[in-house]
Amino acid sequence: MSGAAFSADPLPGKVAVARRCHPSLPFDVERVRADFPALEQTIHGKPLAYLDNAASAQKPQAMIDAVTSAYTHNYSNVHRGVHTLSQRATEAYEGAREIARRFMGAARPEEIVFVRGTTEGINLVAHSFVRPRLAPGDEVLISAMEHHSNIVPWQIVCEETGARLRVAPITDRGEIDLDAFEDLLTDRTRMVAVVHVSNALGTINPARRIVELASRRGIPTLFDGAQAAPHLELDVAELGCDFYTISGHKLFGPTGIGALYGRFERLAAMKPYEGGGEMIRSVTFEATEYNDPPHRFEAGTPHIVGAIGLGAAMCYVEETGLDAIAAHEHELLIHATKRLGEIPQVRLIGTAAEKAAVLSFVVEGIHAHDVGTILDHQGVAVRVGHHCAQPLMDRYGVPATARASFAFYNTRQEVDRLVDGLHQLLEFFGP
Ligand code: PMP
Repeated sequence: MSGAAFSADPLPGKVAVARRCHPSLPFDVERVRADFPALEQTIHGKPLAYLDNAASAQKPQAMIDAVTSAYTHNYSNVHRGVHTLSQRATEAYEGAREIARRFMGAARPEEIVFVRGTTEGINLVAHSFVRPRLAPGDEVLISAMEHHSNIVPWQIVCEETGARLRVAPITDRGEIDLDAFEDLLTDRTRMVAVVHVSNALGTINPARRIVELASRRGIPTLFDGAQAAPHLELDVAELGCDFYTISGHKLFGPTGIGALYGRFERLAAMKPYEGGGEMIRSVTFEATEYNDPPHRFEAGTPHIVGAIGLGAAMCYVEETGLDAIAAHEHELLIHATKRLGEIPQVRLIGTAAEKAAVLSFVVEGIHAHDVGTILDHQGVAVRVGHHCAQPLMDRYGVPATARASFAFYNTRQEVDRLVDGLHQLLEFFGP
């Protein structure tokens, strides 16, 4: 095991503390794989090749141990208790916030709100920050490659306020047309919300340039970082965005937990998203005084152990090393792009110059669901469908694609098994 620095020590009294994690060993894919128990299994009698990481990633033992330890010895509700277990749980929960601060590059832990995931992060910003600032005729600008979770919340607030959702077009390769994007920034634009890394195309968008163009006009920015966090080193302070949101389950952490970064002045000026316990300073039947950020946005009992697990997963990624992860995944991307390019019936959707290790493709004359089913029988897990990006599928005139998405634990051999599986598929369906 390469070992996360997040303490999963089962001894009572030991709780996780935030400390900087650095790679202690050079990257070795076989050693990394041994940290992920799910990768050891066979599917239909074949070793599992898990290439569905953009949907959700597998979990390292260090993260599973941190969750088990939290429930076994250090569990209680947070913030309210004076007893020891509550203090331990609070320390671990707030420790996880500090880890998330460091992982995302925020200036202070108060800028990190624990949310259910990227979807909730975007909805929180749409309802608490943007909606009160929208008047009829105002605009929210997104791009043509957004996940539904970065489309529908904006549609809802636009419908409620008479504002207009504008969509920056993309090129055939799957890159935002930056000239058109800039033209769409008007004196009515109240928010720019763009995906950092596309789940369906793999495109890495030029986040810094987007912030530059928007902030020059005083327009706030949000990035959907669901797919960026597992692959790129984040630094929200350097990026200069106003909001950035990620999902724990795609980052080798638990489901049901994610983090929203919000610039402190923005969070401090926002009304709560939900009301309830924890988010208040005082309540009478006449009036309520809200707590400060981030607690103002964490009504009710939070996903305590989810946050602890997310902290452990972030430590694991840091200790593996984001540079090493990026280099390994880039090599997989190059190899997979070359190998898939050798199959004439395969058409890649999304060929941006800057790409994460995601390959969306169609196989001529064969339905994407058949592609997924036949590959599954070879032990190769890929996703098929519209990837919650129906407008993007429409842009390319396809109902669905097959998508292989890689993580740092994938290997060249697994890419080759994907290619072998596609050859078997083509043989099965005949010329
Ligand atoms: N944005 C992107 C780019 C995604 O890939 C996903 C998950 N597929 C989401 C948002 C939504 O994330 P979650 O379901 O974790 O809220």
